[in-house]
Amino acid sequence: MGTGVLEIFNELREKNIMTLKAAKEQDVKVVGIYCTYGPRELVLAAGAIPVGLCGTRQEPIAAAEVHLPRNLCPLIKSSYGFAVSDTCPYFHFSDMVIGETTCDGKKKMFELMKRLKPVHIMHLPQVPDQSASLEIWYQEMIRLKQVLEEAFAVEITDEALREAIHVVNEGNRALKDLFDLNQACPPLISGIDMIKVSWQLGFHTDRWARVTMLDQLVAELRESGGTQYDINRPRILLTGTPVGMGSEKVVELVEECGGLVVAMENCGGYKTVGLRIDENDLRDPLLLLAEKYLAIPCSVMSPNTKRLELLRKMAADFKVDGVIDLTWQACHTYNIESYQVAELIKDELNIPFIQLETDYSSSDQEILKNRLQAFLEMLD
Ligand code: SF4
Ligand code: SF4
Repeated sequence: MGTGVLEIFNELREKNIMTLKAAKEQDVKVVGIYCTYGPRELVLAAGAIPVGLCGTRQEPIAAAEVHLPRNLCPLIKSSYGFAVSDTCPYFHFSDMVIGETTCDGKKKMFELMKRLKPVHIMHLPQVPDQSASLEIWYQEMIRLKQVLEEAFAVEITDEALREAIHVVNEGNRALKDLFDLNQACPPLISGIDMIKVSWQLGFHTDRWARVTMLDQLVAELRESGGTQYDINRPRILLTGTPVGMGSEKVVELVEECGGLVVAMENCGGYKTVGLRIDENDLRDPLLLLAEKYLAIPCSVMSPNTKRLELLRKMAADFKVDGVIDLTWQACHTYNIESYQVAELIKDELNIPFIQLETDYSSSDQEILKNRLQAFLEMLD
């Protein structure tokens, strides 16, 4: 990070711990969310603060492995490790947690997490384009609304829900504006900075302040013109499992080895920023939320054709030279789906492709570096 506004993002996580603490002292409720499927709008409409709890660091994994198998996705172990060791202030301050039945590892982990904190589980239907799935997910929105209302003794009105939809829409719009800057050649922001911004932003408790910060950053980067990046550096699209600060090693290695991650399809990247609710749609806002969240193209869906459609579009829009599919070890859904992603990228779009399977540790750093160097040389 080099420019003025970018610097501010560096400290958001630490600064917002104090804001959260102050809010708790005022009896404001905090709700932890582990997954992109968790509807932030409902939490906001309940007058509570939603915080992202997805674990992205190696440090708490040893504590998690006391209860969980070693051969499990590092994201699940890191998330549980933070909780069980009480080393994440955001988990600590959460009055309740929203879990979801996405992948098997996560849903079984939540059974253990329930011993530490109230966890409400949303049952996610996994065949996305069926009316029965939408009905189930709509009922899950109704159930979550009731749970929040009872837990916090509030009424969630349609008006509050529509306001929350508006601010979350604006947040997605602003983040998409930032990501879309990299459709330009040369790109305007590095992959590492994109991760820092989107990850740090998740800890900002003031939703409108987030939008303002993003808009300022976009304006500043547009003015910079991206001249700091060599136009000849290979343009990489990253897809696959979620990445945050602490688990950014593949992006860091790509950029160290001369490539530039110009776009990220994964959670925290482009996967959800295009999903916005039509604010002129007068149907039940809970149904609108159900439709929006059911459209997330995660590999837990079967079939997950929307991810392939999104990748096809992103490869063209961002003019990418190569695609890297990142899979966390023991993530079966992304690992298996990688075959279909490879078919699309290599066979149909004729773009070089590589899948990397790794975890949060640095033990395979050299192997990854060698593979990435070879991949990037091929693109040259
Ligand atoms: S990859 Fe899927 S399960 Fe994991 S956070 Fe994203 S939406 Fe949730
Ligand atoms: S990366 Fe895969 S295994 Fe890990 S939590 Fe997400 S879907 Fe589950």
